Amino acid sequence: MSPIVLTEPTVTVAVELPERCDRCGADGKVRTFMPGGGDLTFCGHHANRYASTIRTSANHVVIETGFGWRTR
Ligand SMILES: [Zn+2]
Repeated sequence: MSPIVLTEPTVTVAVELPERCDRCGADGKVRTFMPGGGDLTFCGHHANRYASTIRTSANHVVIETGFGWRTR
């Protein structure tokens, strides 16, 4: 039994994200929630850099309105 979950995260849109990027402190554009309960916020630059990691590790992603993050 290997409970490997490869589902795409649920994506929702928020009017604004008050959080800041956990990597560089810029305005957060994408907030990711991990199955274990933690969450990380990324600016546009870092959301794109870590897009593949976010897609495979997060179970819920909140994207700020107007930010055209590619989720695929
Ligand atoms: Zn950043």
